[in-house]
Order: sequence, then structure tokens, then C-alpha cells
Amino acid sequence: MSRNLPSNAYWSARAEQRMDTYLRDSEQTLRTVGGAFSRANDNLLGDIDRIFGNYAKRHDLTQEQARTYLEGAVGHAEYERLLAKLPGVTDPVARADLLARINAPSARYRMSRAEALQANIYAEMSQVAEVQLGAATAGFQRTISDAYGRTLWDIQRGTGLGWRVDAISPGAIQEILHNPWSGVRYDKRIWTNQRALADWMDKELVGGMMEGRSVARMSRDLAKRMKEGLTDRLDVGYREAERLVRTETCFMANQAELQAYKEAGITHYRFLATLDGKTSPECKAMDGKRIAVAKAQVGVDLPPLHPYCRSTTVADIGEEALAGMERRARDPLTGELTKVPGDMTYGEWHTTLVAKWEKSDILSNGIRAQEDTKVQVIAKIDTDMLSGRWGQVRANVVLTDERIAHIVERHSEDYAALAEHIPFAIQSPSFILEDSKHENTAMFIRRFENSSMNVLVRLALEKDQSDLESSVITVFRLGETTLRRLKKRNPIVYIAP
Ligand SMILES: [Zn+2]
Repeated sequence: MSRNLPSNAYWSARAEQRMDTYLRDSEQTLRTVGGAFSRANDNLLGDIDRIFGNYAKRHDLTQEQARTYLEGAVGHAEYERLLAKLPGVTDPVARADLLARINAPSARYRMSRAEALQANIYAEMSQVAEVQLGAATAGFQRTISDAYGRTLWDIQRGTGLGWRVDAISPGAIQEILHNPWSGVRYDKRIWTNQRALADWMDKELVGGMMEGRSVARMSRDLAKRMKEGLTDRLDVGYREAERLVRTETCFMANQAELQAYKEAGITHYRFLATLDGKTSPECKAMDGKRIAVAKAQVGVDLPPLHPYCRSTTVADIGEEALAGMERRARDPLTGELTKVPGDMTYGEWHTTLVAKWEKSDILSNGIRAQEDTKVQVIAKIDTDMLSGRWGQVRANVVLTDERIAHIVERHSEDYAALAEHIPFAIQSPSFILEDSKHENTAMFIRRFENSSMNVLVRLALEKDQSDLESSVITVFRLGETTLRRLKKRNPIVYIAP
């Protein structure tokens, strides 16, 4: 193959830029998480001021006095205030926990200062966890679909070959999100971290005082010491959240890039460490190593190798992968090789893809799989062409998700290329054959310059009296021999003039 591929430096620079983009995007998640932590901090400082009042500012508090004070009752307003926090806690476990604290008989009629503070701590930490979970999940999903698209774009851009690419499927996104690669899935880890944080505050701040463990430290100014302890601990909590978001972003991005390699037919990648003063020894040691995509192991030869890892990978584009890309870039019907326009940006490419998908009812079926678009009318048969062979035929033709899945499974390479032409073949076929093996089934065959396609349609008849529409059963490409055989065995219903 005489194609001139860009240098290794080009591919490495692109891969590094991509990882930069994902990590920069994760700042957005961290700003949201940071906001939640600082709101919790403000709220809890306010709670301490309110619950402990001026009394806590006394410097001469003994251990016994501190305990008596913590056991003293708060007013009913505190109870009401906690009830108002309930709607912000939607996680079932955290909600049940908070409800139990608020509704404990002792709390209901005579809630102590300690109980009120404890309940506030758990309520605030649950809200932090929920905000973190929502922001992280949205951010990770964004990273996954972005990484998949950008990687394929860089590959197409670098090779000059443009072939049709679908967005990463919702199923594939879920699979990456739900992979407990580090032993614990990120959502569970977020809850565990938040629970540990709340437990620490409860034990160290409230419990410690009750048992007199920390009273010597705290008795000089109860509220001040408590506030300092709380703020310090929340800082630690935020740093844990930051590590989680950064490390998971590295994981999600590298997984999505791996999916893109598979889509592009790439069998090997090279490990790419960001070499600077902060590079870890394990990543430095892996830098440049060539790994089989099928055998990639997270934490061993696929980043992240450690918390805060910034390493990534570079596609190793071999002859075979390149040949595969050329096959896919070649329009099976016109025989032309599709090229990526040289002055196009990723944003423009992405927009044209989305626009194409939206224009095509067929493809939007696949992309909006989670929406309620189970059945789409993709074409209308000109029933005059059938010359009454089947009686009154319903002209609308639908293509169901189930059939798309079938076609993609059996003829995946064809489907990507043929999808756009299906309505065309139904509406202006070169000829129509009656399927002699299946009842009420027609073959809509369209000839193109270099090849032909066959769209098999099960015809819905008016006399069936059901609300079924005619529907595509399968689609495939036809070679000349098969075409001749089909014409011999099945009666011809229509020939284009
Ligand atoms: Zn690393």
C-alpha cells in the first residue's frame, strides 16, 4: 500500500490533545462537585452556630458541661428544618436513614443538640453524594461519547479516509460506565466515600465530645474547633472526589478509545505516557509498549495504571486495518472512495454526522434507541408498480428496531453503506420480484453502477384488516450471479422503463 500516513509524532500529539480535552472537560464536573461541598460546609457551619448558640462560645466548659449541653433539647424549628431537607435526599438508603433519625421517638418529641447535628451531617453529605453522582455520570457519558467520536475523527483525518460512523451506542456507554474495573463501581464508591465522611464527623465531632475524648481540645471554643474540624474534613472529602473524577475520566476515555479502535479495525495500540515532571514510574516504564487491543488489561497495559493517571494510547495502524478502512470508505454502489475534507474540523464533522442521522429515519432508529421510535415509516410503495398482484397493498413501509438489529448482525458492513439507499430502492426499484418462497413478500431490487441491492418487504394487505404496515424484512447486496438466479426462480412483477 502506497498511502502516506502521518508520522508517529502526529498520532501522539493528537492522542495527547484528546486526553487534555477530556481532563479539561472534567473540570466542569469538579466545579459542580466543589460547589456542593462548599454549600454543605456553609450549611453545617450555620447549623453549628444555630444549634450551639452563644453557649458554645464559652471558654470554660468542662467535659460534663459539654455533654449535658449536647444532650440538651433543640426547639421544634430544628425538627421542621430537617424535614425540609428530606426532598433533597432521593437515594432510598440515605433517605431511609435520615427518616429514621428524624422520626426516632426520642427525636420527635425531644431532639437533642447532638441528634440534630448528626441528622444535619448525614442529610448534607447525602446531598453532596447525589450532586456528585449526577455530575460525574453526566460528565463520564460526555467523555465516553466524545472520546469515541474524536478518536475515529482523528483516525479518519490522519488516514484521509472517511467512512460512515455511528455514535457509540447507549448500550456500549452503559457497559463502560458500569465496569467495576477498580473493584468498586464509581457510584458505589461515591456513596461509600460520603458515608465515611459523615461517619467521621459524627464520631469525631459529636461522639468525641459526648465521650469526652476531644473535649480537652474542643472545650476552649466548642463551635470554633468543631467548625475547623469539619472544614478540614470536607477538604479531604473534596480531594477524594477530585481523585475519583480524574481517575475515572482517564478510565472512561481510554475504554471509549478502545471501542473506536475496534470499530476502525485496529488490532494494536501503543501506550502513551505524558512525559513530564509528574509522570509516574509505572507509566514511564510502559511508554511506547505495543499492546493487542483484544488483550488490553486496565491497570496493567491500559491506563489508568494508578490514581490521577493521565496516560493514554495511540492507534497502531497496520496494513490490514488500513485495507479495512479503505473497504469501508468505498461506496459499494458507486465504487468511489470517500475522503475527509481537508479543512473540516471535528465539530463540523460531528455536526454533519448528526445532521445526516437526523435526516435519515432509518439511522435515527438506531441512535435514538432509548426513545419511543420503535417503528418508522421509511418509504412509500408506488402500488401501481405491483399491478394488482397481491391485491390492495398498504403503501407505507416500516423498518423496526428488531429488523435493523437483525440486518446489522447478518450484514453489518452492507447495512452501514446500504441504509441510506433503502427508501430509494423501494420507491424506484430497477425491478420487483415476487418471492416464491414466502407469502406476500416482494423483492425490491435496485441496480447501481457497481452493484445491486435487494430489499425484502413483507407486504401488508388491506384485506388483512389488522393495523400492520408493510415492513422491511432484510436488506443485502447482490452479486451478478445471485441476481441472475433470483430472476430465474422468482416471477418478475415490475421492470423499470
Ligand atoms: Zn499514569
